[in-house]
Amino acid sequence: MGNELSVPFFIRPDAWRRTLPKAVSYHHAQRCGVEVPNVHPVCHLDDARRRDNGQHVDVTGGWHDAGDLRKWMDATMMNALGLLRLARNLGEKWDLAGSGLKPLYEEVQWGNRYFLKMQDTDGRVWADTAGGVGGDNSDNHWTDNRSGTDDDRYINTGKPTMVQAMFVALQAMIAQAYDKTCLEAATRCWQANKRDSTGTRDLAWWTLAALEMYRTDAGAEYAAAAAELAGRLAGLQNTEFMAGQKQFRGFWRMRANSQDPYNDAVYSAIPGIALLEAAAEFPKHPDASRWRDAVKLHLEEYALPLAARTAYEIVPFGVFAGTPTQEMYRPLAGGLTYRYFMPTRRQNWWLGMTSHLECYAALLAMAARAFGKPAYRDLAYRQLEWVMGGNPFGACLMTGEGMRNPYPHSRYVGLIPGGILNGIAGNAKDEPILDTEYGFDWRTCEYWSPHNAWYLWAHSVLERA
Ligand SMILES: [Zn+2]
Repeated sequence: MGNELSVPFFIRPDAWRRTLPKAVSYHHAQRCGVEVPNVHPVCHLDDARRRDNGQHVDVTGGWHDAGDLRKWMDATMMNALGLLRLARNLGEKWDLAGSGLKPLYEEVQWGNRYFLKMQDTDGRVWADTAGGVGGDNSDNHWTDNRSGTDDDRYINTGKPTMVQAMFVALQAMIAQAYDKTCLEAATRCWQANKRDSTGTRDLAWWTLAALEMYRTDAGAEYAAAAAELAGRLAGLQNTEFMAGQKQFRGFWRMRANSQDPYNDAVYSAIPGIALLEAAAEFPKHPDASRWRDAVKLHLEEYALPLAARTAYEIVPFGVFAGTPTQEMYRPLAGGLTYRYFMPTRRQNWWLGMTSHLECYAALLAMAARAFGKPAYRDLAYRQLEWVMGGNPFGACLMTGEGMRNPYPHSRYVGLIPGGILNGIAGNAKDEPILDTEYGFDWRTCEYWSPHNAWYLWAHSVLERA
């Protein structure tokens, strides 16, 4: 096409399905606290000491989170959530080679031993191990595996709201899948938290948590809680036109009492996912049509028209009111602007858009089923195609698939087959950038586990018969 010659490729119905085992195997390679043959020797048996009082607590295990060795709870719980969505949606047939559900459950079980250790005695859950004191890279290193020595890493004993909600959702999903005893940890965490956050992302995860608790048959109270949370979440949508224009609406606000449109590099479509799940679980609830309508408005008057602005049909990172930072914000309508990629001058970290696009793929795939609209399904595939090579660089961002793969920022173990990179980011002019010259650029080329989780989640919906 044009001046481009692609590698030869197969056109076959299992083109995507056959990538799933590779994407799953990435998680195994990221195990911490054990030797992973051909990847790394036994590691971090001395995890970790509390940041607040220095006390040693056994939090060995879990998964390294990315191209580094840190163990954030939110990002690595996504691994387990992605694996369990795959198991739930495709069952035994997820792997065409017939390995069955056992390897999925064993992998989740491995991660969950660590997650359970991160639950404090008050029922609430800590934020991370080795995230880095002061948000830096200080804990990102191999250790001598002996606790009490200077190289021991730290536990961040902060208890962020989203981590609580994800923990409840995960334990409840495990209780449904293979281990009922996890319901106890879920219930303790649920009861220890108030769920009074006004943040859009928090409310979406709490809605999903309540739904998963309800599905464990833990009680009707969870049905009421899920409906109440979904109602609050739907209330955070911009149903009116803002910024002096009459074309685009239906995006979320960051939180109650904020006019900032919602955007997020990892959980960008989670509000719609939570509302669709609520509507599917309680189709006869008096508010179910309101939840469905909210998602439809979001897709029809926001996501689809914005995706139509480029031939690649990717959903932009977000819309903005005016020019919040000194860089390019593309004019949209009235005072509303948009960027395909994260702003680079808003905060010191910004990165590629893989999870954002895959998260939208998951929502669009779910919406295609819920509303019977094949166009949503097509658009879901556009987001995934961008990740796997349908992008201006012609580069596949999964190691071991496709062509022109950038070399990963994976400084401790090198290549991990099936690992997915942060992906294409934008510069200050909102032009796409990707390190294809071995520059070790973490923003575009680092592995990060949520990308594999969303990849599995989205495909598990698309591949469901
Ligand atoms: Zn480790």
